[in-house]
Amino acid sequence: MSVIYNRVALLGLGLIAGSMAHAMRRKGLAGEIVGTARSAETRAVAGEINLCDRITETVAEAVDGADLVVLAVPVGAMARVTEEMAPHLAPGATVTDVGSVKRDVIEQVGPHLPDNVHFVPGHPLAGTEHSGPRSGFAELFDNRYTILTPAPGTDPAATARLRDLWIGCGALVEEMEADHHDLVLAVTSHTPHLIAYTMVGVADDLRRVTDSEVIKYSAAGFRDFTRIAASDPTMWRDVFLSNKDATLEILGRFTEELFALQRAIRTGDGDHLHDYFTRTRAIRRGIIEAGQDIDAPDFGRGARRTDDSG
Ligand code: NAP
Repeated sequence: MSVIYNRVALLGLGLIAGSMAHAMRRKGLAGEIVGTARSAETRAVAGEINLCDRITETVAEAVDGADLVVLAVPVGAMARVTEEMAPHLAPGATVTDVGSVKRDVIEQVGPHLPDNVHFVPGHPLAGTEHSGPRSGFAELFDNRYTILTPAPGTDPAATARLRDLWIGCGALVEEMEADHHDLVLAVTSHTPHLIAYTMVGVADDLRRVTDSEVIKYSAAGFRDFTRIAASDPTMWRDVFLSNKDATLEILGRFTEELFALQRAIRTGDGDHLHDYFTRTRAIRRGIIEAGQDIDAPDFGRGARRTDDSG
């Protein structure tokens, strides 16, 4: 594959930006990859492991002359970083982000951008519970969806070029309206994460079950919750604060279903439970048939990629 952008600036050098750097290098998609991060420590580590061609101390230096700028910081930090970079953006550059929520990012970032750049928001549905500059790897996006949510009127050529980059990084790319993205993600990722956080929190509170028992006998189900609940606290705080409406909507439905199952257990309504579990099993089959997981007894957890899409 040939170079798609002459200079890509990565703002934030964690799991997602790091994986993008590795994936772009794998196929030679960027002429030069420039990166920066908030802390001197992260910049030093990124330099040490040669994550980018060039690491800069400031956002202004990083975006200078870049034809693609990627906001790869927590959603709650994007507005401030955008404000800082805006005066230094090259005319005609494309600005994108990898945030897990789209409407809020568009509202926070959009107003700070000059008219002479293209804004094509994006979200790669791939991740792990690890963070930081050492956690990235080239295969993270392979065969995973990246959703782009350009506003109507966005230059189609800018969107198509970013689409090509993500395809070059191994991803399958879809376009979607931002609000719809947020609802889909509330169902498939955000609410499940909240439930995992809650379940691990609850088990932690159950003093009748000792800590060592929770850890020792965690193979069934709980172990998977603990992995999800180990995800980055800052990122997930920001996800819930910025995808408030959709998450609350789905949580409301979840609570209703939970009450119905609770009632079925209390009244001994086995048919209800059996029907429900039959339905959920079919959803799992659908995910496997769509190539989004493998049918392994460990949920494919032996693989390095764990697919917490964020
Ligand atoms: P990460 O590994 O924790 O890296 C975050 C980066 O952002 C670090 O370089 C950090 O700098 C910087 N940062 C943190 N707070 C900041 C602030 N207040 N101001 C400026 N920079 C700040 O995170 P990540 O997993 O790559 O996530 C980045 C984005 O991708 C988030 O918006 C997240 O929603 C999205 N996303 C994540 C996943 C996932 O599963 N992890 C999946 C899809 C999308 P320092 O290291 O210097 O502190």
